[in-house]
Amino acid sequence: MSEPLATFVHVILPLSLPKLYTYRVPQELTKQVLPGKRVAVQFGKRKIYAAIIHSISDKPPKEYEAKYLLDILDEDILVTPQLMKFWEWMATYYMCSLGDIMNAALPASFRLESTTQIQLNADCDLAALELSDKEYLIIEALTVQDELNMEQLIEIVQQKNIFPLLKSLYVKEAILLSEELKETYKPKTVSCIKLTSTYEQETALEELFKQLEKQPKQTDALLAYLHLQQQGKDIEKSELIKKSGVSESSLKTLVKNSVFEEYKLRVDRVNNNLNISETFSLNEFQEKAIEETKIHLKSKDVVLIHGVTSSGKTHVYVKLIEEIIAQGKQVLFLLPEIALTSQIVARVQKYFGNKAAAFHSKYSQNERFELWHKIKSGEVQVIIGARSAVFLPFNQLGLIIVDEEHESSYKQNDPAPRYNARDASIMLGHIWKCKTILGSATPSFESYYNAKIERYGLVNMKQRFGEIDMPEMITANIAEETRVKTMKGHFTSVLFNEIERAVNNHEQVILFQNRRGYAPMLECQNCHWMPKCTNCDIHLTYHKYINSLKCHYCGYSQKVPQSCHACGSHLLNLKGLGTEKVEDELNIYFPNARVARLDLEATKTKHGHEQIIKSFEKHEADILVGTQMISKGLDFEKVSIVGIINADQLLFFPDFRAHERAFQLLTQVSGRAGRKNKKGKVIVQTSVPNHHVIQEVIHQRYEHIYANETEERKSYQYPPFYRLIKIIVKHKDYKVAQDAAQHLRDLLYKRLGEHIIGPESPYVSRIRNQYIKEMLIKVERNATYLNDLKKFIREQVFSTQTVTEFKRVIIFADVDPM
Ligand SMILES: [Zn+2]
Ligand SMILES: [Zn+2]
Repeated sequence: MSEPLATFVHVILPLSLPKLYTYRVPQELTKQVLPGKRVAVQFGKRKIYAAIIHSISDKPPKEYEAKYLLDILDEDILVTPQLMKFWEWMATYYMCSLGDIMNAALPASFRLESTTQIQLNADCDLAALELSDKEYLIIEALTVQDELNMEQLIEIVQQKNIFPLLKSLYVKEAILLSEELKETYKPKTVSCIKLTSTYEQETALEELFKQLEKQPKQTDALLAYLHLQQQGKDIEKSELIKKSGVSESSLKTLVKNSVFEEYKLRVDRVNNNLNISETFSLNEFQEKAIEETKIHLKSKDVVLIHGVTSSGKTHVYVKLIEEIIAQGKQVLFLLPEIALTSQIVARVQKYFGNKAAAFHSKYSQNERFELWHKIKSGEVQVIIGARSAVFLPFNQLGLIIVDEEHESSYKQNDPAPRYNARDASIMLGHIWKCKTILGSATPSFESYYNAKIERYGLVNMKQRFGEIDMPEMITANIAEETRVKTMKGHFTSVLFNEIERAVNNHEQVILFQNRRGYAPMLECQNCHWMPKCTNCDIHLTYHKYINSLKCHYCGYSQKVPQSCHACGSHLLNLKGLGTEKVEDELNIYFPNARVARLDLEATKTKHGHEQIIKSFEKHEADILVGTQMISKGLDFEKVSIVGIINADQLLFFPDFRAHERAFQLLTQVSGRAGRKNKKGKVIVQTSVPNHHVIQEVIHQRYEHIYANETEERKSYQYPPFYRLIKIIVKHKDYKVAQDAAQHLRDLLYKRLGEHIIGPESPYVSRIRNQYIKEMLIKVERNATYLNDLKKFIREQVFSTQTVTEFKRVIIFADVDPM
């Protein structure tokens, strides 16, 4: 009799490894191994990881002896076949490892590893848990020491594979895992009230009423309870108090007398029991857009909806979503930054109720863990999320919508995978054989180009929704007003007068100040010395609220110096104009107006942005000053004026997309002006009012700017006509970085010739003590050799890194950089 064949699995480890790693499957587990399942493995001397089975084989690896895998962690597969296909495509296209994708794709609670910190869940009633001996050992250890990592626990229970124990304790909610600790995670519960079993019988209840005859308040509480009970659901304590009008102490007495008992009900973290309440009717333009979209979808995989701001695109999406979920399928609805689009999320959730859920980076790991399962089972049908939602384990994906598709926040810059969720979602649609809809008021030139050459269907929505006119747009000349001395602070007289008029009329104002290039910095009046970061090649920015200087790249901060470090002068001035400064000036010039600010600093807390937006919605502030954050998806009833403090910086940024971005941003910000029956006004402050981009914005000539800019890009070989691959080389020694980059360039040149540009130092040439060199590779759009070329590049990168002096040089590629 021959021995049964050994089984091996190739696994994806949560590490940036170029290859898969192979393990041998113990005989007793062979029947359970399946691609996509999670397994526990040992890698390196003593590190243990949760890995994902990529594939199964009966051949041992040639180069090393395969270790046995320790255990299979779940009964079901975690990574579905479609998801695995998507991971593979992404690793190839964006030139990274499957481990990089795994790290980006899986919620941290699926990625247990040796250094994962474990802590007791303080909210858990340990006494009520049934624990095995080993589980008990872990719990006991954790009551003595606040926090232990997996390696320490392995020592304690004397068992290498402790995944099953941890998993069981995790499911019982007895422990918390490292990433949650930072979030001081607490399961949400509400107090509920029910009758004790004694009074479930009618006779006992009648008896009780007699006993309580002289206790009118308690009787009220009991009556209110019985009334609420008819609804057939759990009765929240707060609801009962409200309904009966009795005090908490009366309720307490009833609990003490064993009439009522109190219990905790876990509120589902993901679903907030929203009810479907919103209905709306579409106007003729929206109806038309839906019809056109459907016609295009018959022959095209992707449709681009080009709809002006406030054209009511969301309603169009909602109707299309409705049809898909009626077929029992799921819809992925992507938004650029979910935190900033709370209004849209609320609208969609109101409409679809429990069938919709938002996937949020600010959710705790547990919330994400729960949502993951609800999506996998198909319980949640509409998933609203930011870019990382493309990694969710859909059960039956039927449609993808990418709203504000032009937004650069769809692109992840660091770490790998450096993917663009818009482009990735088209591939995801391909894998699921479903359609993708892109929407924007200012489509990216790449997407518009694809529509023009009829690769995508194109639907135009040129009317605003609900009797709202397009705002009137005018320029205000900063240079001219500075010359004739009519500027007040940073406000031209034109903008100043409009703000004054609006505030006096009880209307609201939004002021936009670009983030880029306008951070306030300190400068010596005599010698123009400016404090720089010690780790990066960048000037420090001034932060008023902490009165210190900070580096935006590495987080380094220092106190504000008393004098110039170069010439010793004490005359240090603030240069640049941040949102804080605008806020200060408004407080001086408009002392009676209430001013709010929406920027990164103001929204550091979990619900910071929501609070600011809600309060502005309620007209608790008259003027909102903000950065790019205010450009997205916000609709306010009473905003009549939008002011752009300075448009110039946007125009002269050294990037081939600068004009496209300026047009998009200025148009989006302008879209916040104008409400029902009231034409809004937008004032663009600039020193170059005749600059062609400003003129295109003022006259809203999208087609025109698209034609001009793409003409130029064609001749300079830029997207959409060419694809770009950026190669980034980093090292803490300038010369090593330079030499490695040059070495790699020479290797690439052999095949690419003039299609490779550089190496050059980027605008910020040193970050976190690492010097940076960049090269740009241009590839013809329709090149069939793209995958082959990427393979070639990876090989040359690898070859460079094997040179002794370049061993520690960091080299990576950024495909389709933004
Ligand atoms: Zn720095
Ligand atoms: Zn000086």
